[in-house]
Amino acid sequence: MAERQQQPETTAITAGRDTSGALAPALWASTTWDTTDLDGTNAAAKHLHQPGFYSRYGNPTVHSFEQAIAELEGTSAALAFGSGMGAIASVVFALCSTGDHIVAQRNCYGGTLAFLDGPCKRMGIDVTYVDGRNAGEFAAAVKPGKTMLVMAETPSNPHLDVVDLAALGAIKGPYTMVDSTLATPLGQQPCAYGVSLTMHSATKGIAGHNDATLGVVAGDVDLINTIWSYAVLHGATASPFDALNGVRGIRSLGARLRQQSENTQRLAEWLSTHPAVKRVNYPGLASHPQHELAKRQMRWFGSLMSIELCGGIDEARRLLQRLTLVRSAVTLGGPDTLISHSASSTHISVDPAVKAATGINESLLRVSVGLEAFDDVRNDFAAALA
Ligand SMILES: *Cc1c(COP(=O)(O)O)cnc(C)c1O
Repeated sequence: MAERQQQPETTAITAGRDTSGALAPALWASTTWDTTDLDGTNAAAKHLHQPGFYSRYGNPTVHSFEQAIAELEGTSAALAFGSGMGAIASVVFALCSTGDHIVAQRNCYGGTLAFLDGPCKRMGIDVTYVDGRNAGEFAAAVKPGKTMLVMAETPSNPHLDVVDLAALGAIKGPYTMVDSTLATPLGQQPCAYGVSLTMHSATKGIAGHNDATLGVVAGDVDLINTIWSYAVLHGATASPFDALNGVRGIRSLGARLRQQSENTQRLAEWLSTHPAVKRVNYPGLASHPQHELAKRQMRWFGSLMSIELCGGIDEARRLLQRLTLVRSAVTLGGPDTLISHSASSTHISVDPAVKAATGINESLLRVSVGLEAFDDVRNDFAAALA
C-alpha cells in the first residue's frame, strides 16, 4: 500500500513528541543526571549530543525541539542554540579555521554581517560577498580547497531578496547553509534542495510569541555531530524553557503562518498603491523581481515585508510616531505588527558605504505583520500615512 503523504502542517502538530503519551514536552530544568557509577558516567560522557548527562551536552526538552525541527526540515538531526546568532557563530567556528574562506550573501541580517566583518576577520577567516539574487554568484566565488562554507539567507532581511535554493544545493565542495528564518520550516525546505544546513532564529516565527530567544540548525546527523563537538565548548546552549516555547510555537505555526502570510500579502498590495509609498518589497507581490522563483520554492511568503517611503528619515520618523496599533520594535514573526527602521536598528553596525551600496537607506522600513484583524492594521497605516 502506498504510504500516505502527510502535510507539513500536520507534522508540525506531532513532531518531536516522545512515547510517554504526553502531548507537550516536559520542562526538564535539571542541569545534570546521576549515573550508577564511574563506568556509567564514563559511558554518558562519551555520547555525542545525548540528553541525560549534563544539560550543555543535551537536554530532553531541548531534544524535543530539535527532533521537531529535524522532522519539519526533513533532516536526520538538528541542534538548538541560545539564539540565532549562537547558531551562526557556532557553525562558522565549528567548520572554519584561520586561512579558510567563506562566501556570503551581501544582503542579509545585520548581526550576520557584523559577525563576518568583526570576529571572523579578526580570526583570519576571509569572506567574499555576493549578490544572492544572481543564482551563479555563490558558485563562482568558491575557491576550491579554501572555501569551507557558503552562506545564504532567503528571503533576506530587510530587502526580501530570494536565493535560488536548487542552484545553492548544487554547489559541491564547501558546505552550504541557508538562514531560513523569514520563511520558517513550513515556508520552505532548503535541505530538500541539497543544501547542507538550514538555520533559523527560532526567536522569530518558530517560537512566534516574542517570549523565547532560540536558534537551531538542521542537517545530516554526521555534520550536526561535528558542529555539536564545537558547540558544546562554545556554550551558546538553548535554555529548556525557551525550547519548550519553541515546541509550543511549532504546534500553531501552520495556522499563524497562513494567516500572517495572507495579511502581509493584503497589506503589501494595499501599500503598493499608496502615494506616500515609493516601493514595497514582498516575494508574494507579482512586482517582486523574483516572484516566480519564490512561488517555485516557497509554500508561504511569510510575515515580513519592507517599504520605502517617499522622502527620508523625517518621513520615516513621523510614520513611526503616528502609528498607534503598529508598534515600533525589532524582531519578526510574532502576533503584533511591528515596524522598524533598519538603518538605525538591525543594521546599525553595518558600514555606511555598505549600507548605501545595498539599499539600506533612510526611508526603508521593515514591517512584520502580526495576527490582528487586517482592517485594523490597514486603518492604522492609512491614518498614519495620511
Ligand atoms: C533575528 C535574526 C537572526 C539572529 O537571531 P537571534 O535569535 O536574534 O540571535 C539571524 N538571522 C535572521 C534572518 C534574523 O532575522
